[in-house]
Amino acid sequence: DVLVVGSVNLDTGFVLDRLPRDGETIESRDAQRSGGGKGANQALAAAQLGARTALLAAVGRDADEALADLVDAGVDLATLVRIPDALTGTAVLLVTPADNAIVIAPGANALLSADHVRALDEPAAAAPRVVALQHEVPAEVVAAAVERWAGRSLVVLNPSPWRAVAPELLARIDVLVVNRLELGELLGIPEPADRAAAERALADSAFGAPGGSSAGAPRHVIVTLGSGGVLLRTGGATAHLPAFEVDAVDTVGAGDAFLGALAAGLAAGASGSRGQDAASLDLAALTAAARRATAAAALAVTVRGARNPSLAAPVVDALLADA
Ligand code: ADP
Repeated sequence: DVLVVGSVNLDTGFVLDRLPRDGETIESRDAQRSGGGKGANQALAAAQLGARTALLAAVGRDADEALADLVDAGVDLATLVRIPDALTGTAVLLVTPADNAIVIAPGANALLSADHVRALDEPAAAAPRVVALQHEVPAEVVAAAVERWAGRSLVVLNPSPWRAVAPELLARIDVLVVNRLELGELLGIPEPADRAAAERALADSAFGAPGGSSAGAPRHVIVTLGSGGVLLRTGGATAHLPAFEVDAVDTVGAGDAFLGALAAGLAAGASGSRGQDAASLDLAALTAAARRATAAAALAVTVRGARNPSLAAPVVDALLADA
Protein backbone atom coordinates (compact mmCIF):
# COMPACT_ATOMS: atom_id res chain seq x y z
CA ASP A 1 0.00 0.00 0.00
CA VAL A 2 0.96 3.56 -0.72
CA LEU A 3 0.82 6.78 1.31
CA VAL A 4 1.24 9.99 -0.67
CA VAL A 5 2.11 13.08 1.39
CA GLY A 6 1.52 16.11 -0.81
CA SER A 7 -0.64 18.75 -2.39
CA VAL A 8 -4.22 19.09 -3.57
CA ASN A 9 -5.18 21.87 -5.98
CA LEU A 10 -8.21 22.93 -7.92
CA ASP A 11 -7.01 23.92 -11.41
CA THR A 12 -8.82 26.32 -13.72
CA GLY A 13 -7.59 26.50 -17.30
CA PHE A 14 -8.50 29.33 -19.68
CA VAL A 15 -7.94 28.96 -23.41
CA LEU A 16 -7.01 32.34 -24.90
CA ASP A 17 -5.81 33.76 -28.20
CA ARG A 18 -3.26 35.85 -26.31
CA LEU A 19 -2.37 36.77 -22.72
CA PRO A 20 -4.13 39.85 -21.23
CA ARG A 21 -2.20 43.13 -20.93
CA ASP A 22 -1.91 45.04 -17.63
CA GLY A 23 -5.32 46.33 -16.58
CA GLU A 24 -7.11 44.53 -19.39
CA THR A 25 -10.08 42.18 -19.15
CA ILE A 26 -10.40 39.60 -21.91
CA GLU A 27 -12.76 36.71 -22.53
CA SER A 28 -11.70 33.09 -22.64
CA ARG A 29 -12.93 30.90 -25.49
CA ASP A 30 -13.17 28.02 -23.12
CA ALA A 31 -12.55 27.13 -19.48
CA GLN A 32 -11.92 23.83 -17.77
CA ARG A 33 -11.83 23.09 -14.10
CA SER A 34 -10.22 19.95 -12.75
CA GLY A 35 -8.63 18.55 -9.66
CA GLY A 36 -4.85 18.89 -9.63
CA GLY A 37 -1.81 19.23 -7.41
CA LYS A 38 1.14 16.86 -7.68
CA GLY A 39 0.26 14.91 -4.54
CA ALA A 40 -3.33 14.34 -5.62
CA ASN A 41 -2.29 13.46 -9.19
CA GLN A 42 0.21 10.91 -7.93
CA ALA A 43 -2.25 9.38 -5.45
CA LEU A 44 -4.82 9.12 -8.22
CA ALA A 45 -2.41 7.28 -10.54
CA ALA A 46 -1.37 4.88 -7.78
CA ALA A 47 -5.02 4.08 -6.97
CA GLN A 48 -5.91 3.73 -10.66
CA LEU A 49 -3.20 1.08 -10.92
CA GLY A 50 -4.74 -0.87 -8.08
CA ALA A 51 -2.65 0.12 -5.06
CA ARG A 52 -4.43 0.71 -1.79
CA THR A 53 -3.60 4.41 -1.52
CA ALA A 54 -4.02 7.08 1.15
CA LEU A 55 -3.33 10.81 0.80
CA LEU A 56 -2.04 13.03 3.60
CA ALA A 57 -2.76 16.55 2.41
CA ALA A 58 -4.38 19.76 3.64
CA VAL A 59 -7.49 21.16 1.98
CA GLY A 60 -9.79 24.09 2.67
CA ARG A 61 -13.54 24.45 2.96
CA ASP A 62 -14.04 24.28 -0.82
CA ALA A 63 -12.40 20.90 -1.42
CA ASP A 64 -15.19 18.74 -2.83
CA GLU A 65 -14.56 19.48 -6.50
CA ALA A 66 -10.79 19.06 -6.07
CA LEU A 67 -11.29 15.63 -4.48
CA ALA A 68 -13.97 14.13 -6.73
CA ASP A 69 -11.60 12.07 -8.94
CA LEU A 70 -9.84 10.72 -5.87
CA VAL A 71 -13.10 9.65 -4.26
CA ASP A 72 -14.10 7.88 -7.49
CA ALA A 73 -10.77 6.04 -7.65
CA GLY A 74 -11.09 4.89 -4.04
CA VAL A 75 -8.19 6.90 -2.55
CA ASP A 76 -8.41 6.78 1.24
CA LEU A 77 -9.05 10.38 2.32
CA ALA A 78 -9.45 9.68 6.06
CA THR A 79 -5.92 11.05 6.42
CA LEU A 80 -6.84 14.47 4.93
CA VAL A 81 -6.41 17.55 7.10
CA ARG A 82 -9.38 19.88 6.62
CA ILE A 83 -8.73 23.51 7.46
CA PRO A 84 -12.04 25.43 7.41
CA ASP A 85 -10.35 28.86 7.48
CA ALA A 86 -8.28 28.18 4.37
CA LEU A 87 -8.96 27.81 0.69
CA THR A 88 -7.85 24.66 -1.11
CA GLY A 89 -4.75 25.24 -3.24
CA THR A 90 -5.64 26.87 -6.55
CA ALA A 91 -3.92 27.10 -9.90
CA VAL A 92 -4.99 29.27 -12.81
CA LEU A 93 -3.55 28.34 -16.19
CA LEU A 94 -3.70 30.78 -19.09
CA VAL A 95 -3.04 28.86 -22.29
CA THR A 96 -2.50 30.52 -25.68
CA PRO A 97 -1.32 28.94 -28.92
CA ALA A 98 2.10 30.51 -28.35
CA ASP A 99 2.57 30.55 -24.63
CA ASN A 100 1.22 29.82 -21.23
CA ALA A 101 1.22 31.51 -17.85
CA ILE A 102 0.39 29.93 -14.51
CA VAL A 103 -0.54 31.41 -11.15
CA ILE A 104 -0.60 29.16 -8.08
CA ALA A 105 -1.97 29.98 -4.64
CA PRO A 106 -0.86 27.17 -2.29
CA GLY A 107 -3.72 27.89 0.13
CA ALA A 108 -4.18 25.00 2.55
CA ASN A 109 -1.13 23.16 1.12
CA ALA A 110 1.11 25.74 2.81
CA LEU A 111 -0.54 24.95 6.15
CA LEU A 112 0.30 21.24 6.13
CA SER A 113 2.87 20.88 8.91
CA ALA A 114 5.35 18.48 10.47
CA ASP A 115 2.85 18.08 13.34
CA HIS A 116 0.25 16.73 10.92
CA VAL A 117 2.78 14.14 9.77
CA ARG A 118 3.70 13.16 13.33
CA ALA A 119 0.08 13.04 14.48
CA LEU A 120 -1.13 10.70 11.74
CA ASP A 121 -2.70 7.71 13.47
CA GLU A 122 -1.11 4.48 12.49
CA PRO A 123 -0.58 1.29 14.42
CA ALA A 124 3.17 0.64 14.46
CA ALA A 125 2.76 -2.57 12.46
CA ALA A 126 1.01 -0.84 9.59
CA ALA A 127 3.73 1.40 8.16
CA PRO A 128 2.84 1.92 4.51
CA ARG A 129 4.99 -0.09 2.13
CA VAL A 130 5.70 3.03 0.07
CA VAL A 131 5.66 6.71 1.09
CA ALA A 132 5.70 9.15 -1.85
CA LEU A 133 6.81 12.76 -1.37
CA GLN A 134 7.13 15.86 -3.56
CA HIS A 135 7.71 19.57 -3.06
CA GLU A 136 4.33 21.30 -3.24
CA VAL A 137 4.16 21.23 0.57
CA PRO A 138 6.47 22.91 3.12
CA ALA A 139 9.99 21.49 3.51
CA GLU A 140 9.28 20.62 7.17
CA VAL A 141 6.55 18.22 5.99
CA VAL A 142 8.96 16.34 3.73
CA ALA A 143 11.58 16.24 6.51
CA ALA A 144 9.05 14.95 9.07
CA ALA A 145 7.83 12.26 6.68
CA VAL A 146 11.38 11.05 6.05
CA GLU A 147 12.02 11.10 9.79
CA ARG A 148 8.91 9.04 10.47
CA TRP A 149 9.07 6.47 7.67
CA ALA A 150 12.66 6.10 6.45
CA GLY A 151 13.87 2.58 7.25
CA ARG A 152 10.31 1.30 7.79
CA SER A 153 8.77 2.12 4.41
CA LEU A 154 10.25 2.66 0.97
CA VAL A 155 10.56 6.44 0.76
CA VAL A 156 10.27 7.88 -2.75
CA LEU A 157 11.05 11.58 -3.29
CA ASN A 158 10.30 13.65 -6.38
CA PRO A 159 11.89 17.06 -5.59
CA SER A 160 9.55 19.01 -7.84
CA PRO A 161 9.00 21.94 -8.07
CA TRP A 162 12.71 22.32 -7.43
CA ARG A 163 14.05 23.54 -4.09
CA ALA A 164 17.24 22.45 -2.39
CA VAL A 165 17.25 19.18 -0.41
CA ALA A 166 19.48 18.72 2.65
CA PRO A 167 22.18 16.04 2.14
CA GLU A 168 21.14 14.28 5.41
CA LEU A 169 17.65 13.95 4.00
CA LEU A 170 18.82 12.75 0.58
CA ALA A 171 20.85 9.98 2.22
CA ARG A 172 17.64 8.55 3.69
CA ILE A 173 15.70 8.44 0.41
CA ASP A 174 15.27 4.98 -1.06
CA VAL A 175 14.21 6.05 -4.56
CA LEU A 176 14.84 9.56 -5.85
CA VAL A 177 12.95 10.50 -9.03
CA VAL A 178 14.24 13.58 -10.87
CA ASN A 179 14.15 15.11 -14.31
CA ARG A 180 17.33 16.44 -15.95
CA LEU A 181 16.89 19.92 -14.47
CA GLU A 182 16.53 18.58 -10.93
CA LEU A 183 19.50 16.22 -11.41
CA GLY A 184 21.65 19.20 -12.38
CA GLU A 185 20.47 21.21 -9.39
CA LEU A 186 21.11 18.34 -6.96
CA LEU A 187 24.62 17.72 -8.27
CA GLY A 188 25.42 21.43 -8.54
CA ILE A 189 26.14 21.19 -12.27
CA PRO A 190 24.47 22.70 -15.36
CA GLU A 191 21.38 20.80 -16.51
CA PRO A 192 22.62 17.70 -18.40
CA ALA A 193 21.63 18.35 -22.01
CA ASP A 194 20.77 14.80 -23.00
CA ARG A 195 20.75 11.18 -21.93
CA ALA A 196 24.49 10.70 -22.39
CA ALA A 197 25.25 13.77 -20.27
CA ALA A 198 22.85 12.58 -17.57
CA GLU A 199 24.53 9.15 -17.57
CA ARG A 200 27.96 10.74 -17.17
CA ALA A 201 26.71 12.97 -14.35
CA LEU A 202 25.27 9.95 -12.51
CA ALA A 203 28.46 7.94 -13.00
CA ASP A 204 30.52 10.80 -11.53
CA SER A 205 28.20 11.13 -8.52
CA ALA A 206 27.67 9.10 -5.35
CA PHE A 207 24.02 8.62 -6.29
CA GLY A 208 23.00 4.97 -6.48
CA ALA A 209 26.56 3.97 -5.59
CA PRO A 210 27.61 0.35 -4.98
CA GLY A 211 26.71 -0.86 -1.50
CA GLY A 212 23.61 1.29 -1.14
CA SER A 213 23.40 4.66 0.55
CA SER A 214 26.40 6.86 1.19
CA ALA A 215 26.81 10.38 2.48
CA GLY A 216 24.31 12.73 0.89
CA ALA A 217 23.28 10.22 -1.76
CA PRO A 218 20.03 8.31 -2.26
CA ARG A 219 20.19 4.54 -2.67
CA HIS A 220 18.41 4.33 -6.04
CA VAL A 221 17.93 7.14 -8.58
CA ILE A 222 15.58 7.40 -11.54
CA VAL A 223 16.13 10.20 -14.05
CA THR A 224 13.14 10.86 -16.32
CA LEU A 225 14.01 12.00 -19.85
CA GLY A 226 10.60 12.77 -21.37
CA SER A 227 10.22 10.85 -24.64
CA GLY A 228 13.76 9.54 -24.00
CA GLY A 229 12.49 7.24 -21.23
CA VAL A 230 14.33 6.88 -17.93
CA LEU A 231 17.72 6.10 -16.48
CA LEU A 232 17.83 3.81 -13.49
CA ARG A 233 20.92 4.12 -11.32
CA THR A 234 21.52 1.58 -8.60
CA GLY A 235 24.42 -0.43 -7.19
CA GLY A 236 26.88 1.64 -9.20
CA ALA A 237 25.33 0.67 -12.54
CA THR A 238 23.00 2.60 -14.84
CA ALA A 239 20.29 1.04 -16.99
CA HIS A 240 18.16 2.76 -19.63
CA LEU A 241 14.47 2.03 -20.09
CA PRO A 242 13.04 3.52 -23.30
CA ALA A 243 9.76 5.41 -23.32
CA PHE A 244 6.72 3.85 -24.97
CA GLU A 245 5.92 5.32 -28.36
CA VAL A 246 2.56 7.04 -28.27
CA ASP A 247 0.91 10.03 -29.93
CA ALA A 248 1.72 12.74 -27.40
CA VAL A 249 -1.10 15.25 -26.95
CA ASP A 250 -0.11 16.93 -23.68
CA THR A 251 2.91 16.01 -21.57
CA VAL A 252 1.64 17.84 -18.49
CA GLY A 253 1.28 15.33 -15.68
CA ALA A 254 3.58 12.69 -17.21
CA GLY A 255 5.90 12.96 -14.23
CA ASP A 256 3.04 12.61 -11.74
CA ALA A 257 1.60 9.56 -13.51
CA PHE A 258 5.09 8.07 -13.55
CA LEU A 259 5.55 8.63 -9.83
CA GLY A 260 2.13 7.31 -8.81
CA ALA A 261 2.55 4.22 -10.96
CA LEU A 262 6.07 3.66 -9.65
CA ALA A 263 4.79 3.82 -6.07
CA ALA A 264 2.01 1.34 -6.90
CA GLY A 265 4.52 -0.98 -8.59
CA LEU A 266 6.92 -0.86 -5.65
CA ALA A 267 4.05 -1.59 -3.26
CA ALA A 268 2.94 -4.55 -5.37
CA GLY A 269 6.50 -5.85 -5.62
CA ALA A 270 6.69 -6.15 -1.84
CA SER A 271 7.73 -9.57 -0.66
CA GLY A 272 7.78 -10.94 2.85
CA SER A 273 6.67 -8.95 5.85
CA ARG A 274 5.80 -5.29 6.01
CA GLY A 275 8.12 -2.71 7.42
CA GLN A 276 11.07 -4.71 6.19
CA ASP A 277 14.36 -3.02 5.57
CA ALA A 278 14.30 -0.86 2.50
CA ALA A 279 17.41 -2.66 1.26
CA SER A 280 15.14 -5.55 0.38
CA LEU A 281 14.09 -3.61 -2.69
CA ASP A 282 15.90 -5.59 -5.34
CA LEU A 283 16.90 -4.52 -8.82
CA ALA A 284 14.33 -6.75 -10.51
CA ALA A 285 11.45 -5.26 -8.49
CA LEU A 286 12.66 -1.71 -9.07
CA THR A 287 13.13 -2.26 -12.80
CA ALA A 288 9.69 -3.85 -13.17
CA ALA A 289 8.05 -0.96 -11.28
CA ALA A 290 9.92 1.64 -13.36
CA ARG A 291 8.94 -0.05 -16.62
CA ARG A 292 5.32 -0.17 -15.59
CA ALA A 293 5.58 3.51 -14.67
CA THR A 294 6.91 4.45 -18.12
CA ALA A 295 3.86 2.71 -19.62
CA ALA A 296 1.47 4.58 -17.31
CA ALA A 297 3.21 7.89 -18.05
CA ALA A 298 2.97 7.24 -21.80
CA LEU A 299 -0.79 6.79 -21.39
CA ALA A 300 -0.95 10.07 -19.46
CA VAL A 301 0.55 12.02 -22.38
CA THR A 302 -2.09 10.70 -24.80
CA VAL A 303 -4.83 12.81 -23.17
CA ARG A 304 -5.24 16.51 -22.50
CA GLY A 305 -4.78 17.56 -18.88
CA ALA A 306 -2.64 16.18 -16.09
CA ARG A 307 -4.86 13.16 -15.41
CA ASN A 308 -5.95 10.24 -17.56
CA PRO A 309 -9.40 9.10 -16.39
CA SER A 310 -9.01 5.76 -18.19
CA LEU A 311 -5.67 4.83 -16.62
CA ALA A 312 -6.06 1.34 -15.13
CA ALA A 313 -3.94 -1.75 -14.54
CA PRO A 314 -5.36 -3.75 -17.50
CA VAL A 315 -4.67 -0.86 -19.92
CA VAL A 316 -1.09 -0.60 -18.69
CA ASP A 317 -0.67 -4.38 -18.88
CA ALA A 318 -1.90 -4.34 -22.48
CA LEU A 319 0.63 -1.66 -23.44
CA LEU A 320 3.42 -3.64 -21.71
CA ALA A 321 2.39 -6.84 -23.48
CA ASP A 322 2.41 -5.10 -26.86
CA ALA A 323 5.96 -3.87 -26.51
P1 ADP B 1 8.54 15.82 -15.93
O1 ADP B 1 7.21 16.22 -16.54
O2 ADP B 1 8.45 15.57 -14.46
O3 ADP B 1 9.70 16.66 -16.35
P2 ADP B 1 9.20 13.86 -17.98
O4 ADP B 1 8.80 14.82 -19.02
O5 ADP B 1 10.60 13.37 -17.96
O6 ADP B 1 8.82 14.34 -16.51
O7 ADP B 1 8.22 12.60 -18.13
C1 ADP B 1 8.16 11.54 -17.20
C2 ADP B 1 8.06 10.22 -17.93
O8 ADP B 1 6.87 10.23 -18.74
C3 ADP B 1 9.18 9.96 -18.93
O9 ADP B 1 10.29 9.35 -18.29
C4 ADP B 1 8.52 9.01 -19.92
O10 ADP B 1 8.54 7.68 -19.42
C5 ADP B 1 7.09 9.52 -19.93
N1 ADP B 1 6.90 10.44 -21.07
C6 ADP B 1 6.99 11.79 -21.07
N2 ADP B 1 6.82 12.31 -22.32
C7 ADP B 1 6.56 11.25 -23.13
C8 ADP B 1 6.27 11.10 -24.53
N3 ADP B 1 6.22 12.14 -25.36
N4 ADP B 1 6.05 9.83 -24.99
C9 ADP B 1 6.12 8.75 -24.18
N5 ADP B 1 6.39 8.83 -22.87
C10 ADP B 1 6.61 10.06 -22.33
